[in-house]
Amino acid sequence: MKKNLQTDCIHGGEDRFKPHDSITTPIIQSSTFVFRNSEEIRRFTQKEHFRYEYGRYGNPTQKAAERKLAILEGAEEAVLFASGMSAIINTLLTVLKNGDHMIITDDAYGKTLSFCKNWLPKWGIDRTVVNMSDYDAIEKAIQPNTRLFFSESPTNPYLNIMNFSRLREIKSRYPQMIVVSDSTFATPFNQRPLELGADIVIHSATKYLAGHNDILAGVVLGSAELIQDIVNFQKIMGGVIDPHCAYLLLRGLKTFSVRMEKLNKAGEEVAQWLENHPKIRRCYYPALASHPHHEVAKREMNGYGSVVSFELDGDIDASNRFLDNLKLCYIGPSLGGCETLITHPATVTYYTCTREERYQLGILDNLFRLSVGLEDTEDIIEDLDNAMKAI
Ligand SMILES: *Cc1c(COP(=O)(O)O)cnc(C)c1O
Repeated sequence: MKKNLQTDCIHGGEDRFKPHDSITTPIIQSSTFVFRNSEEIRRFTQKEHFRYEYGRYGNPTQKAAERKLAILEGAEEAVLFASGMSAIINTLLTVLKNGDHMIITDDAYGKTLSFCKNWLPKWGIDRTVVNMSDYDAIEKAIQPNTRLFFSESPTNPYLNIMNFSRLREIKSRYPQMIVVSDSTFATPFNQRPLELGADIVIHSATKYLAGHNDILAGVVLGSAELIQDIVNFQKIMGGVIDPHCAYLLLRGLKTFSVRMEKLNKAGEEVAQWLENHPKIRRCYYPALASHPHHEVAKREMNGYGSVVSFELDGDIDASNRFLDNLKLCYIGPSLGGCETLITHPATVTYYTCTREERYQLGILDNLFRLSVGLEDTEDIIEDLDNAMKAI
């Protein structure tokens, strides 16, 4: 774990003295930044003086949030986007070109997978989807033109964990390949992929980083060189974060490590309780000895987050009755916020798939994903317990 993380959450990346001696970094709600005279233009274009010019090329509130995130992740640079997906797509399209090949692991975020499978080939970029836990298959999939390896850890909904030591060892044989890790579920509190061998880390800041279920945002972190390429492409593609949103992210980050400490603890408590409950067939959480990647998680992570997946002992009707009897937990997608959220992948995320297709992906009728929130854990457990009585 990074030292003094909480102090960095509060002060990191922000100027000590801010405009008008405001204690908070203000929202600079401006699309454009004016030049006073031709001398200012000259100094700006000659790079003698750093300043802002136009909202798509950067904003002071955004910059403060980027600096804070870079410090928290231990990255040289960070760039924010309007959403996690925008961050992912801008990164892939910056690094990859016609004729390149990339590898993505099979239980990546649905829309990321869909982009790689259905859209990249339109631009002449080939991709192979591999089983996340099969390191021999990962290495076999690498071709001379493989430029990028993309994975997530932990994954959704089974919380599979990437073994970064093994990945780093494979990567050392293929210097042309960069490793991109979507670390949304881990956060810089629980894992530091850049120190474990990744070249680029991406987060949907919508989740734990902002932490209040109130904004969409995405961030890409890495070396100054890689991030500069991505920034240059963003200047063309757009997808920038709004200054007000950047402020809400900065505000959310002030309590990031306090929230994570509590969420890690709450996630573990709820997972233990679920695992021992007679109406639960199976519970997935990396802190549990029953999780297939428990050992590697213990070695390479500082905590396991607040997402817990479980299978009820019942069919689809029992699953619906369980949902209908929840009074505290909200039913909805997303994770990492203050409010406990539960999703039923079979009826929400995979509603367009047939039952056979879903079962092939391992999405059973009775599977749930819970994002434990910041309420008193005993109240969350009581709500789950009461709803289970109805099945
Ligand atoms: C939510 C999520 C995304 C997409 O982020 P948005 O902010 O919703 O665009 C990408 N990857 C993971 C792992 C996510 O959970």
